[in-house]
Amino acid sequence: MRFDIVTIFPNIFSSYFEETILKIAQAKNKIEIHVHDIREYSKDKHHKTDDLPYGGGPGMVMTVQPIYDCLRAIPRIGRSRVLMFDPAGTEYTQVQAQHYSESCDQLILLCGRYEGFDERVYHLVDDRVSIGKYVLSGGEIPAMVVIETVTRLLPGVLGALESTKDETFSGNLDYIEYPQYTRPETFTTPSDEQWSVPPVLLSGNHAEIEQWRKTHFKK
Ligand code: SAH
Repeated sequence: MRFDIVTIFPNIFSSYFEETILKIAQAKNKIEIHVHDIREYSKDKHHKTDDLPYGGGPGMVMTVQPIYDCLRAIPRIGRSRVLMFDPAGTEYTQVQAQHYSESCDQLILLCGRYEGFDERVYHLVDDRVSIGKYVLSGGEIPAMVVIETVTRLLPGVLGALESTKDETFSGNLDYIEYPQYTRPETFTTPSDEQWSVPPVLLSGNHAEIEQWRKTHFKK
């Protein structure tokens, strides 16, 4: 899978992509991440990428020209989609992450800033994506969310021990994974409260454990 991030803040990403699963996925050639600086494509003499909104109002709007030229310069690989981040877009879910991981070879991720994009940028876009009903200052965190959620679903990225099969929301947005516990069996707080693991999980009875997991949910 190839990811192309289109942004005016290309330096936001490097440390996140150079650690743990995303670093390993790149080393194993499961993913490639390319970051493109919109500003480099601006034909304005000051490399401007935004301007005042027609009709007035607060803030600045991202202009079409640099985004148009930047998108045209990105090579298209196989089944490719352009995602534009927008708080008013279709809400992103685990099911959509699964769909992208199975049906795409390339995701081009368009990160907005300021008041967002000139509406005509939409001519260049396949999906308008929101990561939730709140407003961030830019599309860079949404781009990281999509890259991480899609990458961990690609075959061979996670080891068998970290299977994504039974995870919360997988296949079914109503599914919530069962509660998990690890050592110690009892944790004692400084005020002598005892927090114990449910005894059934220590029983070794696999049928009972499975039954318990099907009927107990996280609080
Ligand atoms: N004025 C806009 C918000 C702009 S926020 C409005 O009221 O709708 C600036 C940019 O951050 C957006 O263009 C988008 O790319 C990104 N962004 C902010 N919140 C987001 C969210 N919940 N999901 C996806 N992208 C978001």
